[in-house]
Amino acid sequence: STADVAPQICIVGSGPAGFYTAQHLLKHHKLTQVDIYEKLPVPFGLVRFGVAPDHPEVKNVINTFTQTAHSDRCSFYGNVTVGKDITVEELRKAYHAVVLSYGAEDNQTLGIPGEDLAGVYTARAFVGWYNGLPENRYLKPDLSSETAVVVGHGNVALDVARILLSPLEILRKTDITEEALIELARSKVKRVCLIGRRGPLQVAFTIKELREMINLPSARPVLDPADFKGIGDALKDVPRPRKRLTELMAKTALEEPAEEVAGRWVSASREWSLKFLRSPLQVLPTADGKQARAIRMAVTRLEGSGDTAKAIPTGEVEELLCGLILSSIGYKSLPIDPSVPFDPKRGVIPNNLGRVLGAPGLYCSGWVKRGPTGVIITTMNDSFDTAQSLLEDLHSGALVLSGAKEGSEMVRSILESRKIQPVSFLDWEKIDAAEVARGKLVGKPREKMVDPHEMLELIGH
Ligand code: FAD
Repeated sequence: STADVAPQICIVGSGPAGFYTAQHLLKHHKLTQVDIYEKLPVPFGLVRFGVAPDHPEVKNVINTFTQTAHSDRCSFYGNVTVGKDITVEELRKAYHAVVLSYGAEDNQTLGIPGEDLAGVYTARAFVGWYNGLPENRYLKPDLSSETAVVVGHGNVALDVARILLSPLEILRKTDITEEALIELARSKVKRVCLIGRRGPLQVAFTIKELREMINLPSARPVLDPADFKGIGDALKDVPRPRKRLTELMAKTALEEPAEEVAGRWVSASREWSLKFLRSPLQVLPTADGKQARAIRMAVTRLEGSGDTAKAIPTGEVEELLCGLILSSIGYKSLPIDPSVPFDPKRGVIPNNLGRVLGAPGLYCSGWVKRGPTGVIITTMNDSFDTAQSLLEDLHSGALVLSGAKEGSEMVRSILESRKIQPVSFLDWEKIDAAEVARGKLVGKPREKMVDPHEMLELIGH
């Protein structure tokens, strides 16, 4: 009988999707062994490398993930890139089931001339840089321009704008990297203009992030009243969260602020603005052809209304002088391995409730399953769904436990033959302790290590 065979399950990626999938499997099947493989030497994905440093409360999910990792039926193998160090097919031989939760490692591009000029960065790289993502540690963005343009109206766009505009004494108490603090201290950025193709009713950011912008101690909002006049009519039929969000923007644009707020705004040395109905056409270079000097935008109008409204160019064109441009128009998942189906158009692994189509025993969860939108809670729910599908397949016999699988034993010997040395969760806890200790010296929750070699050296690899 297979009833007492312990299912050996492998998870690829240790972000929220990986950890929440593991948590659900371990909780609802008392025999499962779950092994998590992670490309980086450190766990937690975008909770460590995406979530803004001034949002420490969001990172509390790490406590839950750590509990999961401490289960004696769960193991963590960091420093293993699936698709390079080991193939998905090899993992499928070693395990009864494989769950792909490797997130979105790339970003959408603007696809306009001048995008590669110095001074133009993706928000993904900028976020990775201030959060200590190893691959972005040398970015050193040029912050010598007084005007920065952020392309995009989502929460990541607001994160990036807020980091550029926050007083240093606030950021100093966060886990933002030392390198980022040094560059931000030299920053000349005074104005951050966030541009979007569509209108105020189509923004993708949420009210908490907008409120944080409005409450920035040293920057004033500059919203154009014309964008919000008469918007009340359009608000009758929209869902409540969007209604409240739009009302807050409209109030900020149209109403006199309270005296104390007005005083703060008058004396603020920096400002931010939302520019609607503008679609980037080209980044214009400086005379030497090397550096971004301005952005040229098509003025657009909306066709249709609500979430599905389309931005159509009116023919009018506008230019805005700026030496710093951050494009924040979305992350993008990549195929991991030629053996795994991938929908390049939607940028996801085709699946039915987390079951990868045409590949029994293969599952997916998180951003690579749904696409790169949604907060951690959304990712948690979809990961629980995937784990549930897997458990159902075990019960129904659709997922057959054909004898005991070797699991990590087999992978370990493959990795050894390829000279790959995985990082255990205990190793991570040593890195963690070292970061916290360094942070303590400077009054930060941690000082992140940004060089993987340094991490590996610390744990004696
Ligand atoms: P990820 O978190 O990206 O995890 C994927 C993991 O897989 C990574 O650790 C990666 O290194 C690993 N991996 C990739 N390729 C491989 C491979 N080949 N082999 C092995 N491992 C691999 N949500 C909130 O609720 N609140 C916030 O404040 C918030 N802020 C955000 C800020 C930013 C800038 C971004 C981008 C997102 C933010 N989110 C926030 C959303 C949240 O981060 C996501 O919902 C969530 O992280 C998605 O989880 P995931 O596990 O699918 O992907």
